[in-house]
Order: sequence, then structure tokens, then C-alpha cells
Amino acid sequence: MGDADKTITVMNLERFATHDGPGIRTAVFVKGCPLHCPWCANPETQSLGPVHFVDGERCVGCGECARSCPNGAISLVTEGGRRRPRVDPARCSGCRACERACLREAIVLQGHVMSVGEVLSVAERDRDYYEASGGGVTLSGGEPLMFADTALAFLREARVRGLDTAVETTGNVAFETLRAVEPYVDHFLYDVKSLDESSLRNVVGGSVKLNQEGLRWLAARCPDKINARVAVIPGFNFDDEELKGIIDWLWEIGVRRVNLLPYHTLGLGKYAKLGRDYACSRSSLRDEDLEELHEYALSRGMESKVGA
Ligand code: SF4
Ligand code: SF4
Repeated sequence: MGDADKTITVMNLERFATHDGPGIRTAVFVKGCPLHCPWCANPETQSLGPVHFVDGERCVGCGECARSCPNGAISLVTEGGRRRPRVDPARCSGCRACERACLREAIVLQGHVMSVGEVLSVAERDRDYYEASGGGVTLSGGEPLMFADTALAFLREARVRGLDTAVETTGNVAFETLRAVEPYVDHFLYDVKSLDESSLRNVVGGSVKLNQEGLRWLAARCPDKINARVAVIPGFNFDDEELKGIIDWLWEIGVRRVNLLPYHTLGLGKYAKLGRDYACSRSSLRDEDLEELHEYALSRGMESKVGA
């Protein structure tokens, strides 16, 4: 099977994206992530199993979706005095019968299995825009490097088609994967969430050691490809000393570009559709809240930007 024939579960394919690497890009959000950040703006990408959005405004609790499911994966539960469907991902085969059965279009299975070739054919429609703006394709998630074979196939095929490539990664991936994809990646948008091992492990389930090992290697090998991304999260890392410590560490290892990302609540509505609680602040940060950190990064000689 060639690279173009490999399949990938695409949760969202966003054309004309301007916050996922340089220029105008097509951002491809894939499923699966080793972390579980409670502030994640794309919570539907976190799990490996199928995920359904249920729109609580549209759903009338009629149960047609449950009756249509050939696998008995849907049960009706009562929440806040209203009946709504709950899907057992372990029993779901992804047939979409529930979607078709719902006359109110209230239940939607998230994601589509596509071949790498299909995804890149969509992306190639905007080649003129990429060439005019210095853009290309961005592989994002979830954690797009979680499945090394698929990521490699996507990036290699994009390179064959002459497309500029970016990867948005949590850095919580096997070092061998990073090494395998690096020759096919033009830009790494690399998350640094914390330097504190126990905080990272307890809150999001990641490893500082793994995150640092990968970035240190990239910084030594191809510093010009790196944009470190520091999401500033109230109650997690919104602390002067911690954030300046991250900037200092980036400088020490040779990273020279950083994006400071103010916490936002844009993904909040998705949690309700997934039947999940949202445990983080309901107030976004403003760009001005990161001004002091931005000035600090500039004073260290970094190229710093507030926002993606
Ligand atoms: S999702 Fe649609 S079919 Fe299922 S209970 Fe709600 S309204 Fe009925
Ligand atoms: S996608 Fe198919 S198997 Fe999954 S819950 Fe819907 S009807 Fe059932």
C-alpha cells in the first residue's frame, strides 16, 4: 500500500486556516491524543474510540437513534430532567445509522476515515493561496504523531506533491517518531506546557522529560523550523515564575521563536455536546494579560508573538 492509500481519521479539515503555521493553510485535525488537557479546544479528538456530538437544543429524547443502532450502542439517559442519548464507544462500529435516523439532526458521529491521497487532494485545491502566502498543510490533532505510520505517510506524500508542511505536536511522542518525520516537516509548532513533571503528569497526563527530549533534539538539529507554543492556562501555569522559566529554558536550548497563547473558552460548547463537564475557568485571558511575558521574551532576544 502506497502512502496516498493509507487511511487517517480526520475530525476536521479546515481550509484557509491562518493560525496553524505560516501563511494560508489547510489544517488537518486527526483523532487520538496521549494527553487529556481539561482545557482542550478539540475534546472530540482526544479519545481513540468513536465520538458523537449530541446537540441538547435539538434533541427531543425520542430514542429513534437508539432504536436504529444495530449494535445496541445507544441508551437513553435522563440528565437535568431531559432524556438524551448516550453512546457506548466500545459497541459503536461507526455505521452512522443513528445520524440518518435522527430527523432533528441532533446526533453526529465526529470524524471521517479518509485516505491520505483524498485529504491532500482537498488541500491541493488551495495551492495558489499557499504559494502567494507562504502557506501549506498542517497536521494537527489530537496528537498527530501518535500514529507514526500514518503521520509519516501524510507528510511524505505532501512532500511528493510539493506542499509546505507543518506539524502541531504536544511533544509527548516517541523520540523515534520525531526523528522519522523531521525530514518531511518544514515547521514544528511545538507545545511546551510546563517544566514541572508532577504538574504535567497529574493534570494532563504527559511527561516533561519526553517533551523536553524531543524539543532539545529539534533545536540542535533544525532550530529554524521551530515555533514553541506556550498556552497560558489559569490554574495550571499562569504564574510569572513558571512562565518566565519556560522562556529561559527555550532560550537555553536554542529555540528562538515563541507563540504565547492566551487561554480561551472556544471549545466549551463541545463539552456539553459530548456530555462532559468543563472543569476550567469560564473566562478567557486577554492578549494584554500576556504582555509582560511577551516583553520578557523579547528582552531575552526571542522572536515573540501573542497569539498563534
Ligand atoms: S438524537 Fe435525535 S433521534 Fe436521538 S433521541 Fe435525540 S432527537 Fe431523537
Ligand atoms: S454510529 Fe452506528 S454503531 Fe455507532 S452509535 Fe450510531 S448507529 Fe450505533
